[in-house]
Amino acid sequence: MGSGSQTDVARPHALPWARSAPSDVRWRLESLGMLWIAGGILGLLVLALAARRDMAVGVLALIGSSAIAVGVLLIAVGRRQPRAAVPTRWTCHLPLVVGTVAIGGCVAAAGGGSAPIAYGALFVWIGLYAGAFFTPRAVAAHVAFSMVAFGVALRSLGQPMAAEMLLVGGVTTAAAVLSVWTAWQRSLANSDPLTGVMNLRGFERALEQQIERCERSRTPLALALVDLDGFKGYNDQHGSVAGDRLLATTAGRWQAQLPDTALMARLGGDEFAFMLPGMTPDAAGELVDQLRALLPAPVTGSAGVTEWCPGDTPSQLRARTDGALFQAKRSGRDRTQVTDHELTSALELWRALEAGEFVLHYQPIHSLADGGLDGYEALIRWEHPEKGMQSPAEFITAAERSGAIHAIGRWVIDEACRYAAALRERHGDQAPTVSVNVSTLQLTDPRLASDIRYALAATRLPPQALVLELTESALDGSVTDAADALCRLRELGVQLAIDDFGTGYSSLHRLRNLPFDILKIDRSFVADIGDERHDALLCAIIAMANSLGLDTVAEGIETETQRHFLAANGCVRGQGYLLGRPAPSTLGVSDR
Ligand code: C2E
Ligand code: MG
Ligand code: MG
Repeated sequence: MGSGSQTDVARPHALPWARSAPSDVRWRLESLGMLWIAGGILGLLVLALAARRDMAVGVLALIGSSAIAVGVLLIAVGRRQPRAAVPTRWTCHLPLVVGTVAIGGCVAAAGGGSAPIAYGALFVWIGLYAGAFFTPRAVAAHVAFSMVAFGVALRSLGQPMAAEMLLVGGVTTAAAVLSVWTAWQRSLANSDPLTGVMNLRGFERALEQQIERCERSRTPLALALVDLDGFKGYNDQHGSVAGDRLLATTAGRWQAQLPDTALMARLGGDEFAFMLPGMTPDAAGELVDQLRALLPAPVTGSAGVTEWCPGDTPSQLRARTDGALFQAKRSGRDRTQVTDHELTSALELWRALEAGEFVLHYQPIHSLADGGLDGYEALIRWEHPEKGMQSPAEFITAAERSGAIHAIGRWVIDEACRYAAALRERHGDQAPTVSVNVSTLQLTDPRLASDIRYALAATRLPPQALVLELTESALDGSVTDAADALCRLRELGVQLAIDDFGTGYSSLHRLRNLPFDILKIDRSFVADIGDERHDALLCAIIAMANSLGLDTVAEGIETETQRHFLAANGCVRGQGYLLGRPAPSTLGVSDR
């Protein structure tokens, strides 16, 4: 850790729960303060209700009231600590050791009879507290020290010790073990076993809490996501054991470099997240650059950094950071993209979604052989209250940048499935399919497949009635694991189409190996029909698609000549203003 306060909490190779549990100074001091106050009050109550002559009443009263005062002080000091500050030895162990000595003093001052055991029972709290926050070694040390204190105190009373020691020692140890076990179980749920840092679940909770604090205090907060470039290739080349080692070493190095207030998590695979309270996006960008520089060559990392803006929910902040990371990858990887916060457009988009201002228009896709209606493509529109109808070109890029595309995309899928289900109700099994456009960024969302499965189930739509259109950029290598993501979608049973074919980059190799069913020829090729050189290219594309077993759909058919040409040259389906313009649903399917 940056401050050099190397405690059992911060040490890179401490046990997982000790490193990843959100046991910040504040929490520790506050809970310890409460124990002190409770102990003090109990002691004073015993004195008030059951004081005996052999008790050192003055000493007990002094210890009891001091305990209350120390407790109040600890809580007050705790409240002043930043939430994510890492405890030092001093804030961890010293108040507990002082507490142990004070309880020992109570035992000694309690005189004969059962009072020493009653006071000694307070040692159970030492065990519980240490078990919740410390590593097992430190827990054992505290329990042992409290038993020594108890032994010394009993001895000073000249009491026979065995039974009392067994009783208080046994209960204290049992409490400590139970507490360690509970803390361990709790941290397992929140930490990543490979690297020992927080996992997605722990991070989501911590982010939620941090945002609540930021809402109250209006302090800045930056969020960073770092993704290792080509980690899959590294794994394939060196084996998964080496890959795991790389992740663990990287996490250790990064953890050691972070300021005390920062919180790091591994969200899954090779993606790490950093919550950076108090940091501006620029400072966070610099820090992330330093972290990326620590990666062992030739491994590189891409990063997205954004700042929390008042009103942002955790998922909005996360989505925006995802968008920044995506931009970093798209613009060549091995770089950090800090979003210039495009706040207005992002918040506007979320608001529009909430307000139900998005609508889908449907454009028919016809068979070129017999003119039959084969499907519809769902195309999003934004009915802006002031600017009027906005086309996707005007907001999809902003939605991608801001990360709002995930939520918008989910809405599109739900709505399109409802439309497809309504079509099936009307036309039965012969109903036209419905295609939706899926942004390349959505492909990086691990929830995409389950969202689609859910939408299909909710509308009882057979998966093959839904077509997902992806542009060629999904295949250009800028998206890690695009092939895996496509296969997961394919496993759902939906059809996959490659959209705007011919405008991007896709090697024949990829085309052959990826699980596509449909190839949509970009309308620029259709517009060029009549120019001999272009015609030859168009025919070659159709022939290639047919030989790969892909259905072909030509986009942007505007004239009879184009339609004839495409039909004569083996193109199966067509879409364009000639055959039908995009129009709102007439089936009465509503989005809400
Ligand atoms: P696309 O998927 O290639 O959709 C076809 C676009 O071509 C549509 O534009 C459509 O209106 C237009 N078009 C259809 N026939 C003709 C024609 O004969 N001539 C001409 N000039 N244009 C024609 P639109 O609706 O403006 O959509 C543009 C792009 O926005 C879409 O291209 C798609 O990439 C994207 N998009 C649309 N809806 C969504 C969505 O729900 N999610 C995502 N991620 N992207 C979407
Ligand atoms: Mg499309
Ligand atoms: Mg297209």
